[in-house]
Amino acid sequence: MERYDLLIAGGGAAGLSLAYRLAASQWSGLRIAVIEAEVKEGNDRTWCFWEQGEGPFEGLLAHRWDRMDFYGYHGKQVSLDLQPYAYKMLRSGDFYAHCHKALDLAPHIHRIQDRVRGYEKGTGSEGTEILVHMQQKTVQAPLVFASTPLEGALDEARHGLWLNQHFKGYYLASEEPLFEGLTARLMDFRVEQVDGYPCFVYVLPTDAHHALVEYTVFSPDAWTNAAYDAPLHRYMEENLGLRDHFQVLHTEYGQIPMTDYDFVGAWRRRYPDLPGLVPIGTMGGLGRPSTGYTFTNIQRHCELILQELTKTRKADFGARMPSRFKHYDRTLLRVLVERKYPGHALFERLFDRNPTALLLAFLDGQSRFGQEITIMNRSPRPVMMSAMIRNMLGNASVPKG
Ligand SMILES: Cc1cc2nc3c(=O)[nH]c(=O)nc-3n(C[C@H](O)[C@H](O)[C@H](O)COP(=O)(O)OP(=O)(O)OC[C@H]3O[C@@H](n4cnc5c(N)ncnc54)[C@H](O)[C@@H]3O)c2cc1C
Repeated sequence: MERYDLLIAGGGAAGLSLAYRLAASQWSGLRIAVIEAEVKEGNDRTWCFWEQGEGPFEGLLAHRWDRMDFYGYHGKQVSLDLQPYAYKMLRSGDFYAHCHKALDLAPHIHRIQDRVRGYEKGTGSEGTEILVHMQQKTVQAPLVFASTPLEGALDEARHGLWLNQHFKGYYLASEEPLFEGLTARLMDFRVEQVDGYPCFVYVLPTDAHHALVEYTVFSPDAWTNAAYDAPLHRYMEENLGLRDHFQVLHTEYGQIPMTDYDFVGAWRRRYPDLPGLVPIGTMGGLGRPSTGYTFTNIQRHCELILQELTKTRKADFGARMPSRFKHYDRTLLRVLVERKYPGHALFERLFDRNPTALLLAFLDGQSRFGQEITIMNRSPRPVMMSAMIRNMLGNASVPKG
């Protein structure tokens, strides 16, 4: 049986972000393999995130913005000065190609195209190892970083605080230079708030003729692909003056779980005797429950894993964020789930009353405690306090979608 020092199961955002870093020559003493079921190429998703300074994939960015606009449901415009952050757009096709190239140049990294069927305890010369059963063969390693789906996890997650962030967007080309001078729109709530759940549009122009326009909903269940078309087209016509004379170059349709579900705990319950099996990515619980943003957390987790790999003992590969941010996330998520206070009004208040950089730091789990108190004081306090208390009391009476 093939044996590796380290396996990465799933070669998407998390798996490739980790493998890319491990392709550096300093890790050439490790025999590593990345297992991916599909041929990953092309733009199956666009990652947007905010970041200070330059990140590891800076040269690949499709675009970055220092200023953006927010629009409330009733039309209030808030100008957002993001600095020292920038909002960045990375296309998955560019990311996959760049990472694959780096892996192919690293002789210690192997790529296996196969589908993982399961993980099991095995033994190696130095003790317990993990057997990774795939459709065509089985390989083993003492350490496996997995972003493959954990069966049943998302179904279980739906029983707790849960929303599905679902969206459909067009990357489009307009004949007229329609986007010239147009400030990117981070959230534009000037659309119908279907069933009282937050519905908004991103507008991310990459030049005078091209933009990603994405209609996004936070609600328990995704819509059919066709259901987004009418509101998306209406928005494009009413708020961008795009009636015809445009071409859709690419359509993006996707879903991101927004949940406080304990993914890591679920892996531990499913594989109690495999401490070397470390979940990463969405299946490692790295999506922020209140926003769905995941990409930045994935990058931070990769950096932490690298630090821990340099330790010979007691490595702890768990993603870390001060626990108070879990409370904030759960509070915001509960307010959105319960809809006692409109989601659009919550976001408008947060963006209107706080310096953008502070709010972005908060939503990213990077703010200081004193700043968080300020943000809480500027939010609808009774609603937030009530949600926070009910979270602390373990209130399970969450309306299900
Ligand atoms: C369309 C879309 C857009 C998104 N946009 C953003 C964004 O703008 N900003 C942001 O922060 N987050 C975004 N997210 C959320 C999150 O960042 C992404 O989902 C991200 O790709 C998660 O990384 P991952 O590695 O956990 O999952 P993936 O990138 O999905 O990687 C998992 C990999 O595992 C492979 N795999 C699955 N099962 C098996 C198996 N049995 N055996 C072997 N391989 C397997 C899959 O083929 C896949 O390549 C988006 C999500 C989607 C779906």
